[in-house]
Amino acid sequence: MKPTWISVLGATGSIGVSTLDVIARHSERYKVFALTGHSRMRELAEQCLAHQPRYAVVADQAQAQALQARLSAAGSLTDVLHGAESLAWVAAHEQVDAVMAAIVGAAGLQPTMAAAHAGKKVLLANKEALVMAGALLMDAVKTSGARLLPIDSEHNAIFQCMPGRYPDGLQQVGVRRILLTASGGPFREFSRKELEGVSPEQACAHPNWSMGQKISVDSASMMNKGLELIEACWLFDARPSQVEIVVHPQSVVHSLVDYADGSVLAQMGNPDMRTPIAHALAWPERIDSGVSPLDLLSVARLDFEAPDPERFPCLRLARQAAEEGGTACAILNAANEVAVEAFLARRIGFTSIPVIIEHTLSRQACEPVRDLEHVLQADRLARQHAANWLALKD
Ligand code: NDP
Ligand code: MG
Repeated sequence: MKPTWISVLGATGSIGVSTLDVIARHSERYKVFALTGHSRMRELAEQCLAHQPRYAVVADQAQAQALQARLSAAGSLTDVLHGAESLAWVAAHEQVDAVMAAIVGAAGLQPTMAAAHAGKKVLLANKEALVMAGALLMDAVKTSGARLLPIDSEHNAIFQCMPGRYPDGLQQVGVRRILLTASGGPFREFSRKELEGVSPEQACAHPNWSMGQKISVDSASMMNKGLELIEACWLFDARPSQVEIVVHPQSVVHSLVDYADGSVLAQMGNPDMRTPIAHALAWPERIDSGVSPLDLLSVARLDFEAPDPERFPCLRLARQAAEEGGTACAILNAANEVAVEAFLARRIGFTSIPVIIEHTLSRQACEPVRDLEHVLQADRLARQHAANWLALKD
């Protein structure tokens, strides 16, 4: 069997590390073409020595020289490249079959677009790319014949519960609703008053999942579920009103699809990202992911409750942006990225995150998306509005 050559964008992150864990279990089947990192150079060097990619990509020239020297001294043949163009290059290279898009935030948009335009199998973890430029990304996938497979556990679950013909339209295949589950995050039971005083450490201590800092804060504010609502609309061609959010604190049911005949299909499993990663890597086959079997008796019970839009206003803001369409979601995403960074840097309190996003959305007119440059322009302007809010507050 011919091996599948993979570029792992964001290899040093939580998803990147889980991806390499799955790949290492099937080293005959998957070969690493490129690994990319941004700040964790020691980890990237170790990954390169273990997986011997053809290329590594880092942020700047100084990092590239240091990593190249280290790898060459160890006898490695990996070539180290740097910069945004190199990220796109290893995503679109003709020898690459599949791209794991696992850079966090807007920085992942351009390389993910490059992989889609080049017709790759795109394993999409970088939900922000779809939130910012869903129309363009879905269009690039269609035009080039790329295959987009969701890594986000909820979307991967929905994909597994959908009939193969779902691109014909949800109504045509008898789907009534998508039920998107949310753990509720570490602050599910906190009062509004308690939310005002929470720290970045508390926000990053997710009860069920171990993830990067940005998505951990998004989970705590429930903006993650808002971004996932937008993501689901693009992936499954659903209207926002067809996607219902259900809080499910155990994170065992990863999402559900509700059919016209009353059947509801769910995908379940232990909360470990290696399951959706292995599913998407091998699809339509199934391979071992290293995840232990689900023990229903120790799970014992599954709870479901409605989300609280009063304590978690990010949900409302994301749903509004999803309904508005155009550049609204790029504006929402950019303002959220600025706000999360400010919260992690202790410049603002947790409850200021939705305030900054709402302020930014009110300052910037939403327009129909023309092209990628237009999306990037909306992103830049939104960051400016959000930064102005921060400057006024200081
Ligand atoms: P991490 O913060 O753990 O990793 C992010 C990766 O992106 C790292 O490799 C990081 O490099 C790299 N990176 C950061 N900034 C830049 C930049 N400006 N340019 C290039 N590379 C950059 O995040 P996660 O792995 O948790 O998440 C990755 C994506 O997957 C996110 O979009 C997230 O929403 C999504 N996702 C994650 C899940 C999870 O369980 N973790 C679940 C579902 C979706 P370095 O570390 O070297 O600085
Ligand atoms: Mg998710």
